[in-house]
Parts: sequence; C-alpha cells; structure tokens
Amino acid sequence: MEVFGRSRRQLAFAYALIMCLFLAILIFVVHMAMNWSMFSEQAQELSDAANGVAEAQIFYLQNPYAVVDENRYYKSVNDRLFFYIFDEDMHLVRFERASFRLEPFVLDVIEDWRIDEGEVEVFQHTNESGRLSTVMMTSKRIITASTAQILYVGKDVTVLYSGLRKATYAQVVLGVIAIVLSSVGGYFMAGRALMPIKEAYDRQRQFAADASHELRTPLAVLLASSEILLMGEALADPFLRQVATDMKSEVKKMSNLVSELLEIARSDNGRWELKMERVEMSAVLGQVVRVMKPLAEKKGLDLLSDLSRREVTCDEQRLKQLALILMDNGIKYTSEGAVGIKLTPRGFSVWDTGIGISAEDRDKIFERFYRVEKSRSAGGNGLGLAIAMEIVKRHGWQIEVHSEEGQGSEFEVIMRAAQI
Ligand code: ADP
Repeated sequence: MEVFGRSRRQLAFAYALIMCLFLAILIFVVHMAMNWSMFSEQAQELSDAANGVAEAQIFYLQNPYAVVDENRYYKSVNDRLFFYIFDEDMHLVRFERASFRLEPFVLDVIEDWRIDEGEVEVFQHTNESGRLSTVMMTSKRIITASTAQILYVGKDVTVLYSGLRKATYAQVVLGVIAIVLSSVGGYFMAGRALMPIKEAYDRQRQFAADASHELRTPLAVLLASSEILLMGEALADPFLRQVATDMKSEVKKMSNLVSELLEIARSDNGRWELKMERVEMSAVLGQVVRVMKPLAEKKGLDLLSDLSRREVTCDEQRLKQLALILMDNGIKYTSEGAVGIKLTPRGFSVWDTGIGISAEDRDKIFERFYRVEKSRSAGGNGLGLAIAMEIVKRHGWQIEVHSEEGQGSEFEVIMRAAQI
C-alpha cells in the first residue's frame, strides 16, 4: 500500500534528520572544545615564554656588560618558539628567528600589529604552494629606566591545528557513515514497526470487502420481496402500501451504498483489473446518455450531448461507470436548466447548470464519504466521486473541476495523449 510505503519513508527520513542534527551538534561541540582547550594551553605556554624572554631582556638591559647566555631567554628549549625585540625606533635588537618558511609572514604580522599587549592571537597563512601555516603570537612591552622596547613572541602551531582539522574531518566522515547506516536501519525498523498496523489494515479492508459482498444477496432478496409485496392487490391498505414503498426505497439506497462500498473495497484490495482495449468513446458515452435520459426528463432537465467518433484505449466498463457517476451527479445537483456531455480536445467533460461547488469544497469532494452540507437532501453516499477518481487514476488520467457556486459545474476528464 502506497500510504505505508510513504509513512515508512517519512519515518526513516525524520529519523535520519534527527541523527544529522544530533551528529552536527556533537561534532561542532567536540571541535570547539578541542580548539578551546588547545588554544588555552598554547596561549598559556606563549605567555610564560613571553614573560621569560622579557625578564631576560630586562636583565641584560640593566647589566649591559654581562655575557649573554642564550639559554637565559628560554627556560625550556622549544624550537617552535620564536621572538623578536624591537627598540623605540623599530630597530631589531634581539631575536630568535622563526623558520625561514614562516619568517616573512611573521614580520608582516608584526608590521601590522594591532593587538593589545598580552593578548594571544592565531594567524594563518597559505604560501604559494598552498601549504597552510598557523602561528600563535603575543606581544609585551619591556620598559626599563633608560629604554622602552617591544617584544613579539610566537609559536608555530601548524602541526597542532592541522591535527585538529584532520580529527574533525575524520569525525565528519564517521558521522556521514553513521547517518547512512542509521538511515538504512531506520528504514528497516520503520518497516517492522508498521507491519502490525499494515496487517490490521489489510484485515479490516478484507472485512469491508467480505461484509459488503455478503450483504448484497440478502439485500437483493429484500428488494425483490418488497417488489412482490407491492405487486397486485395483496396490500390493499394504503398505510401498509406506503410502508412497503418506503421499505423498497430504503433497501434500494442500501444496496446502492453496499455496491459502492464493495467497489471501493475491491479497488483497495487491488482487485480491479482493467481490461484495456480500443473503445469508440461516442458509442459508450451515447449509451450513458440514453440510460440517463429518463432521470433527466423526470426532473425537467435538458440532456445535451455533443459527441463525435473518437477512439481511446481504456476499460470500456470503467469508462461507462465514470460517465454514469458524473452524469448522475450533474442531474442530482441541478434543479433547472441542462446537463450535458461533450468531447474535449483532451478527453471528455460533463457539465451542468446546477448548484455549483465552492472553491473550498472543490478539493474535498473526491474524498470518501465527503458531501457538501447543502447537497445532503439530494440523496447519495459521498462515494461516487471517490470511485470516479479511482477509475481516473488507474487509467493515468486526471480530472479537472471548473465550477462556481450557483453557476453550474464542469468535470473534465483529461486522458493521456498516447491513449487517444
Ligand atoms: P454523492 O453520492 O453525495 O453525490 P459524490 O462523491 O458523487 O457523492 O459527490 C460528493 C459531493 O460533491 C456531493 O455530495 C456534492 O456536494 C458534490 N458534487 C458532486 N458533483 C456535483 C455537481 N455536478 N454539482 C454540484 N455539486 C456536486
């Protein structure tokens, strides 16, 4: 059943969507947490290094004759650290160079330095060969009684950041695999979850089909019996005659309803086999007009037809049934004027000058048991157009309703060009 397939897909899709959202949030949070913890650890190391270098520089500025010991600048040896100290005239007075690959970029950063003292910032640079480098830098003023200098300390953190990026990519790839697997799993689980509902639904449809089938015979017997009762002079009492007449009319309504229910149940159970053949449309539709004529005449309506020879590939009986339903409705919902049937370039249409259909009801009238409130007195079960729609869909056709309230209606059946 289409509805179960659709629900299954919708459930699996909703599940996959939730998984996507969940994984996206998880990956984002993990990435941010790793980034933050790495940044704060490195920033701390950089600040410590800046303090060490500044201390050493102050020492040598205050003791100009002391022999410079390079080790004094770094408490620990770290070849990824570098620093540059400039005097007030921006002359380089001391440095521990960044790698030759990074130095031009680092010097550019220093030239444009706009960051507050003590703040740590990450800078990224892609060289001509597309290699991405990441450095982390901070600055510190070195002020003594005689001079003021500025220190820039940095660290090459390329490896750390590229490791973080790789870890995030790996998480994304794993996330996508998890989503694909969980979508397949979700589809499978949704199928299993719907199974009992589908079985119950099938049983209920079968019950509707069986029940309406079983009801047909006793109803036919009842109808025949009421006709026999009304025949001849057996029922002389007018009251009893009226009772029998009412009974006959109610039984007739009931057998109509049961036939329509059976039709719908059979179509639901897929027991509608279309017998496709070349059919001469005007012959079939003309026959429907003849059947409907007495009904229209009884209501004082003109029954018009504009038909010419045209062949179409379809199930003849179903085409007849479709035209009958539409014409029956036309007559039912028209109190004066005319009802007609005509061929159109795309198929055929049934029109009337009756009560019309409001825009809001136009989509609903094809639903099972839907009846517009004010047409309730016309008698009907609200199943005719549902059956009509089933016939139309099975043939791959469409039906268009053109109608205004109080202005009559037109139901156009649009056939497939290949069938005409
Ligand atoms: P019903 O047995 O009530 O005619 P249908 O399924 O055939 O059931 O039609 C559903 C409803 O659509 C009807 O109750 C009626 O309100 C509306 N309808 C159908 N055909 C027409 C028409 N030609 N003109 C006005 N209303 C219509």
